[in-house]
Amino acid sequence: MNTNYGIKIWSDNNFIIKNSTVNVNYKNKPSLLEITNNVRNKGYKGPILLRFPHLIKKQISTLYNEFNRAKKEFNYQGDFQAVFPLKVNQFPNFVNSLMEVSKTYNYGLEAGSKAELIIAMTHTPMGAPITVNGFKDKEMIALCFIAANMGHNITITIEGLGELETIIEVNHEFNKKREIPVIPKIGVRIRLHSAGIGIWAKSGGYSSKFGLTSTELLEAYELIQNNNLLEQLWMIHFHIGSQMSDISPLKKALREAGNIYADLKNRGASALNAINIGGGLAVEYSQHAHAKEINYALSEFANDVVFVLKEIAKNKEIAEPDIFTESGRFIASNHSVLIAPVLELFSQDYHEKSLRLKEINPPLIVELYDLWVSLNRATAREYLHDGLDHMESLLTLFDLGYIDLEDRSNTEILVNLIIKKSILLLKDDGTEELQKLQNKIQERYLVNFSTFQSLPDFWGLKQHFPMMPIDKLDIKPTNPATIWDITCDSDGEIAFDGELPLYLHDVDVTKDEYFLAFFLTGAYQEVLGMNHNLFTHPTEVIVEFDEEGNYTLEKLIESQNIMDVLDDMDYDKNWLDKKLKYQLEESTLINQTQKRELLGKLYLYLSENSYLKTIQASNEESS
Ligand SMILES: *Cc1c(COP(=O)(O)O)cnc(C)c1O
Repeated sequence: MNTNYGIKIWSDNNFIIKNSTVNVNYKNKPSLLEITNNVRNKGYKGPILLRFPHLIKKQISTLYNEFNRAKKEFNYQGDFQAVFPLKVNQFPNFVNSLMEVSKTYNYGLEAGSKAELIIAMTHTPMGAPITVNGFKDKEMIALCFIAANMGHNITITIEGLGELETIIEVNHEFNKKREIPVIPKIGVRIRLHSAGIGIWAKSGGYSSKFGLTSTELLEAYELIQNNNLLEQLWMIHFHIGSQMSDISPLKKALREAGNIYADLKNRGASALNAINIGGGLAVEYSQHAHAKEINYALSEFANDVVFVLKEIAKNKEIAEPDIFTESGRFIASNHSVLIAPVLELFSQDYHEKSLRLKEINPPLIVELYDLWVSLNRATAREYLHDGLDHMESLLTLFDLGYIDLEDRSNTEILVNLIIKKSILLLKDDGTEELQKLQNKIQERYLVNFSTFQSLPDFWGLKQHFPMMPIDKLDIKPTNPATIWDITCDSDGEIAFDGELPLYLHDVDVTKDEYFLAFFLTGAYQEVLGMNHNLFTHPTEVIVEFDEEGNYTLEKLIESQNIMDVLDDMDYDKNWLDKKLKYQLEESTLINQTQKRELLGKLYLYLSENSYLKTIQASNEESS
């Protein structure tokens, strides 16, 4: 990885580097820096989540286009349809954008809980498919019946025999007095022998939480038949797990599911008409060519699905089924970018101005100083070695009590200055030794965000997300970087990894703002994100583009203020408020005027979100 942070590998051309900045590769191609500054100038500090609806649209149309192309290529007769699994991202600014950009596709939603079902019932256009997966109780099944009665095209996917029995019961209650019954469509989720792979593999396979075994399937079929519901049975469903890095398990699963479909069809399930292949379509998160996560392209995926199903249909002499997908990650990941300001560089203190040189310094310190001053390209390597040697000696001298704390501090600073200067002079050499040295002396970047809130899959699953600075891209970054978030948890760290190195710029953030962008955060991260340390969902905004190609900022939602965060945890806001006020009023340390002033300050702080302002801002206030 050079100065381009592997952007060609992971960005799918959605973002490009233009001179010194990373830009949105759409319409007038604004830089992320410009957009970020625009939001911050409105007074919003802390991390900012940018949403790009044009990227959701791109994913949806790519998905439909590829499947339609494959259908044409193989002369496939079934339809292609997709739904979005809400569990991947239920935030209204996302869901509303999704529905807006997918209008021409008859695109629907998949719900896995009652609350998600309510989102689906209120956001899916009439006629577009709603599928309902996951464990269901009687109430949830009744909600599906209510949706069907509204006119929704809704399919209940049966995950177990018990659910089918409940459907029969609810059907009886809803329809016993009606001449023309209204019943949701029925799908059955099948438990496959073939399992997914990767860290999300658990949703497929025989030990999966979901789906019917062959024995249960036969029982279910008979139950459906005996209760006159065969007309409703129209879909077979499977899902082999998320972020499928390799295509072969899908092919196996397709053959298994296809043959089950054909068997049921030939057995008399005349209304059966669709195979739902679930999600699993993967996203390339890697920034490094040697660590790519996927070995197939969407075109291959679509070809395989269409080809395998066509073949089975031909062999078993049945009509080619409609194909449904429930891709979530593929649709949502790339639409959002998290921008987080760097607050501090750990070694920023190691600055010339911090040196406390004495009238008379220990000889080794004098030598260190000379090394630093006289170091040039030719001598860099040698002086660097000498400097590191001297440091060892000086630290030993300190331990033995021969030099004092000021000498020790001067040592730290001088060695750091020597290292920085030599790295800068040697940066184009690319020698292995320099690389090793660089990797050893990582810089820690304190970044104003929470990994727990914004990259929970990094914390929980070590999933890598592409990250890069949004500016200074015309300068070669030289600092091997470890990222620290602002939680008080030592797990809130993205440590430097020599195998997948991240280099950032040496900046003085007290003079110059420096932002990191985290990409592909649109799937799962937002809703899995947790309020560890009570850092909540970041300030978010939709970036839309108009006819002229200019962008506008829409539907900005600020990160929750401190009182609302506590209110959400069921603290009594009024009580907290009274308690704080009371303590100030009762204080004997200050007078009335001071109390009033502090009360004003207190209320200001309570109305703000819990992320940090910049370090400069806090300095200004205390000075
Ligand atoms: C989670 C889930 C999906 C979405 O999977 P992705 O890997 O995000 O595409 C689809 N279908 C079902 C049943 C799911 O549980």
